[in-house]
Amino acid sequence: MAHRIQFASGESFAFAPDEDTLLRGALRAGLGFPNDCGVGGCGNCRFELVSGEIETLWAEAPGLSERERKRGRRLACQSKPAGDCVVKVRLDDECRPEIVASRLPARLTAMREIAPGMAEFVFRTEAPARFLPGQFAVMQPPGVAGARAYSMSNLPNDGGEWRFVVRRMAGGKGSNAMFDALKVGDALTIDAPYGRAHWRSGNSHDVVCVAGGSGIGPIASIVLAALRDGGQRRIHVFEGARTQADLCFRKLVSTETERLVYAPALSAEPEKSVWAGARGFIHAHVEAHAFPVEATEFYFAGPPPMVEAMNDLLVMRWRAPLGHIHTDKFF
Ligand SMILES: Cc1cc2nc3c(=O)[nH]c(=O)nc-3n(C[C@H](O)[C@H](O)[C@H](O)COP(=O)(O)OP(=O)(O)OC[C@H]3O[C@@H](n4cnc5c(N)ncnc54)[C@H](O)[C@@H]3O)c2cc1C
Repeated sequence: MAHRIQFASGESFAFAPDEDTLLRGALRAGLGFPNDCGVGGCGNCRFELVSGEIETLWAEAPGLSERERKRGRRLACQSKPAGDCVVKVRLDDECRPEIVASRLPARLTAMREIAPGMAEFVFRTEAPARFLPGQFAVMQPPGVAGARAYSMSNLPNDGGEWRFVVRRMAGGKGSNAMFDALKVGDALTIDAPYGRAHWRSGNSHDVVCVAGGSGIGPIASIVLAALRDGGQRRIHVFEGARTQADLCFRKLVSTETERLVYAPALSAEPEKSVWAGARGFIHAHVEAHAFPVEATEFYFAGPPPMVEAMNDLLVMRWRAPLGHIHTDKFF
């Protein structure tokens, strides 16, 4: 039987028996439940339980501090209602999904290594692949506790093709399971789309994209969309990697046009190598360029230190309008 979830602000929805979490149930009901990562890292879906019973899926999720936990705060992405509940959270129209997520049976149709420890996974679903470029899917790597988020690296399409760039993390359970436990032909459920760091087509601003590591996946999707419907906008792509072998952008987007300026920077390329491009961290390289922030949209994705450095640059130093900043931190 479905449970009735009542918000202190008045809205309510039915949490069906096959729903997984309060957050995804609310988003699937079309509600603007605040969220960013959907997998326990960011803490943006924290809420207060006024009454009712909730099962906590991952009690140690880093998105909540010990202090918040003691004060009774919970994460909606790690909460599964066990009966009717009343919850307190400020719903936000900005978080209302443009495309409501669904769980789609998928099959892995191909996997190719594009850099050491980095591979492109291609899945196919019967239903069309509906998402906004830059969004992510939640999936359950085989044999691992908890879901992982992976961002689509291709464009939405009617053929049901979903591409993801996944990096094998040293000691990481989910990413290693993707590489080692999944074979071409295997089934997996894709729960998508989620995320707000997606391509905005409704203006004529230039585009600056910054990717670190596997952040190149959603950035490739955004660049493909900007090439497709970005008019005459210039598209600057900054890719940060350790060495030349780790660069992936050109394996994902092969289009050559004057509108697209590609600027990689390497942080661990051997001193003696024949690399004529930039060295150092990618955010420092971005800083060396002067972009008119009022007429530029910034998209960036990748490891938390890179995302924090970019936020610091854009918000604190360049004072870019917050509405021009679209980012996903890969917790
Ligand atoms: C919005 C978003 C988009 C992302 N896109 C990509 C991408 O395109 N490519 C890519 O390579 N990576 C991406 N990531 C990172 C990816 O989701 C994983 O964090 C990464 O693969 C490392 O996972 P792991 O299992 O190997 O490492 P682990 O250290 O084992 O786990 C890391 C993450 O898994 C989750 N987790 C761990 N244990 C549990 C548990 N018991 N219950 C529930 N959750 C748990 C947490 O979110 C944790 O931060 C993205 C992350 C986010 C938030």
